[in-house]
This record gives sequence, C-alpha cells and structure tokens, in this order.
Amino acid sequence: MAWDFSTEPEFETKLAWMRQFVRDEIIPLETLDVDRETYTRITAPLKEQVKEQGLWAAHLPPELGGGGFGQVKLGLMHEILGQCRYAPGIFGNQAPDSGNAELLAIGGSPEQKERWMFPLLRGEIRSCFSMTEPGAGADPTLLSTRAVLDGDDYVINGHKWFSSNASHADFLIVMAVTDPDVSAYQGSSMIIVPVDTPGVDIVRDIPVLDHPTVGGQLYGGHAEILYTDVRVPKENLVGNPGDGFRLAQQRLGPGRIHHAMRWLGQSRRAFDMLCERAVSRYTHGSVLADKQMIQDMVALSAAEMQAARLLTLHAAWTMDQVGASNSRVEIAMIKYWGAKVLHDVIDRAIQVHGSLGFSGDLPLEEMYRAARAARIYDGPDEVHKATVARRILRGYEAREVPTEHVPTRTAAAHEKFAGYLEAATANL
Ligand SMILES: Cc1cc2nc3c(=O)[nH]c(=O)nc-3n(C[C@H](O)[C@H](O)[C@H](O)COP(=O)(O)OP(=O)(O)OC[C@H]3O[C@@H](n4cnc5c(N)ncnc54)[C@H](O)[C@@H]3O)c2cc1C
Repeated sequence: MAWDFSTEPEFETKLAWMRQFVRDEIIPLETLDVDRETYTRITAPLKEQVKEQGLWAAHLPPELGGGGFGQVKLGLMHEILGQCRYAPGIFGNQAPDSGNAELLAIGGSPEQKERWMFPLLRGEIRSCFSMTEPGAGADPTLLSTRAVLDGDDYVINGHKWFSSNASHADFLIVMAVTDPDVSAYQGSSMIIVPVDTPGVDIVRDIPVLDHPTVGGQLYGGHAEILYTDVRVPKENLVGNPGDGFRLAQQRLGPGRIHHAMRWLGQSRRAFDMLCERAVSRYTHGSVLADKQMIQDMVALSAAEMQAARLLTLHAAWTMDQVGASNSRVEIAMIKYWGAKVLHDVIDRAIQVHGSLGFSGDLPLEEMYRAARAARIYDGPDEVHKATVARRILRGYEAREVPTEHVPTRTAAAHEKFAGYLEAATANL
C-alpha cells in the first residue's frame, strides 16, 4: 500500500534552496519603491540564479522548456513562492503567463508554441487571459463576445473586463463565441490576439481593493478592454473551434492548485507574524500567548492551514494520477477552502497586532486586501461549493423513509435474526 507524506531528499534540497532564496533575496524587494526598469535590472540576476538551479518555469514538461515536476512538487514549490508577490515572476511562474503557457502547451499548434509559448516561458513576453465580461462572469454561458470567420480571418467584437495584465501584455487569449447556435460550452473558442492589433482598446486598468490607485504597478492591473472589429488570422484559434471551455478547464485546474498553495505560503507568513506577536506583546498581566482566546486563534489557524495543505496536495496528487477533468471535486474544494483559510488567518494576524496590524507598517493590511479577491477570481466560492455539493449529491437517492430510521431497521433486524430471537425466547 502506497501512503507516503514524505518529500524525496533530493527534492527537499531544492525546496530548502528556494526557501532561503525567497527569504534572503526576494522578500527584501517588497520594501523598495522602484520603477519597472529598476525592478527588471535588480531581478535579472536573480532569475539567472533560478535558471542555474533548474527551477525556472517549473510548470511545464521538460520537452517544452519547463521542469516537468508534476503537480505535487509544483504545489510544494508554490507554497514557498506564495510568501512574496514577486517570487513567482522571478521563478518564471507568474500568473497569468504560467497558465497561458500551460494552455498553449495543451492546445497550441506548433507555430503558436514557437511564436508565443516559448518566448513566454523564456520571460521575453507577457500575456493575458481575457474572458470575463461586465455581463458574464461566474456564468460563462452568458458570454457575448463574438468571433466571426470572415475569409481567412476571425473578426472579434466584444467588451471584456478584469483581463489581468492586459496593459503589460504582448498578446491576449480571448474567449469568444464562435458558434452561437449551440450551447456556450460547445460554441466558445480561444483566440490569440496580439495586443497591438487594430480595434483592441485597453480602456483602463480598473481600480481594485488591493490596487486602489492604478498606474506605476510592477505588474499589470485588471483591464477593461473593448474589441471592435479586431481581425486576426484563423490560425490564431487555439485548438479547434468550440474547444474554449475544454481548454479553460485544463488551464484552470493546475492554476487553482498553484493558487491554493501560494495562499498557504501567504497564510504561513501571516501565521508566523501572529505567533511572534503572541509571544511578544504584554498586556493585562501576561503575554498574549498565555490568553486562551489567542491560543484558540493559534490552534485553529494551524489546523485550518494543515487541512488546506492536505486537501491541496491531495488534489495535486489526484490530478497527477487521473488528470484535471477527473479531479474537479478535489480542485473545487481547495478553491473555497483555501481562500477562506487565507482570509481568516490574515484577519486573525491583524487582530492580534491591533492598530499595528491595521497599519501600513506591517505587510498584513496589503495581504488582507489581496486575499479578499481569492474568494471571487477563478470562479466565486459559491460556484465551486455548488460543484462539490452537486457531485456529492449525485451519489444519493431520495427515500421516503430515511435509511437510518430506527423503527424500520429494528423491524428488518427482527426479520433477519428471527431464528435466533425465537430460540432465545424459547429458552426463557
Ligand atoms: C483580482 C481579480 C483578477 C481577475 N483576473 C481575471 C483574468 O485575468 N481574466 C478573466 O477573464 N477574468 C478575471 N477575473 C474575473 C473573475 O474570473 C470573475 O470575477 C469571476 O468569474 C466572477 O464573475 P463576476 O465578477 O462577474 O461575478 P458574478 O458572476 O456577477 O457573481 C457575483 C456573485 O454572485 C454569486 N454567485 C454567482 N453565481 C452563483 C451561483 N451559481 N450560486 C450562488 N451564488 C452565485 C457569488 O457570490 C458571486 O461572487 C478576475 C477577478 C478578480 C477579482
């Protein structure tokens, strides 16, 4: 029987290197206020070190320029990278580029891989996944962006928003309806649109909770985009017409595992701050660590994080065994459980720091603002809960009398054991 929670010693050495590198070389960058060019100059040698370790763009198979680690090992790596918002980029794993490279690896033509995926993996270009519309988010069957074949081109018209990274991207992967006569799940397709194609209008980066003021960001914000008669060659279609949702599912599966493990990295950082404060702060006759309500926060956070970690690594393992589409329940579970744990642990860490936790003198307030989005992006929690509940409930039948109804069971047991019961009565 295989049931093993250990990490191979060789891989553990890589993880140890990553932990130290993120702590000593990347986290210090957080406190600098630098422009993109300076940031690029500072991070270039760090990226080289990551490449020398063979850890660059670990998310793809080796034949496609990645590390070929599989989801469990990737999960453990993302837990470390999640501690700091700059770490994924320095490891060639920045969303949405990592997910888009995975998408092109799965569905892209050899030409698309050559032109877009390999440069993406080398970190030479940036990308964006443009699906959500002001009128179509959690329910993608409401998508209204249309792509119509006209000669050898697709012509795209539509209105998107929350297209992360669009304003820094070289190309956009646009989800559009190519066949309105069938269900959106069969009639939607993904099309690569170079960002400088005429008709692409990046209207604005939308101000959001974790970036209330836009502009000057090192990474792209969440853009609103108008597509007006945008014409691209039909060869820019990813996969076949109507493949959009099948590919999206495969793209989002690994992405959710990486998100969930990065959330754990963030949670762990907040938890360490919580515990450090608990043993340091003296008030009302003792340090906080001696107060049961604070101990409750420590114990609850530790258990919740451990549960999230096991759920996520199990989802990663399931995906490595049976693929993304057969791991939908496991992947959906970690989405809402992980997002809630992230939120709650950071919230408790803020609480034990009091006014200091609420202030910009600690990273907690920024972490808290970013964490709130986790319950919404990649599908809101409610939709994932509904997926899990629906699939679980499929295994149950409606019954007029509950299976566990004691009087009914008693009658059945009397019938089953009648011979013994009669003998027992006769012996009285
Ligand atoms: C930070 C951030 C980054 C993002 N990046 C991208 C990106 O790069 N590309 C992209 O295409 N999109 C992106 N999105 C959009 C994201 O995928 C959508 O926000 C998400 O799918 C939800 O859609 P919506 O915002 O339109 O919410 P709606 O569909 O309007 O849903 C609103 C709320 O209704 C409730 N709800 C919805 N459906 C159900 C249901 N079935 N049962 C019960 N309750 C329900 C939930 O509470 C939900 O939060 C991003 C969003 C955020 C916040």
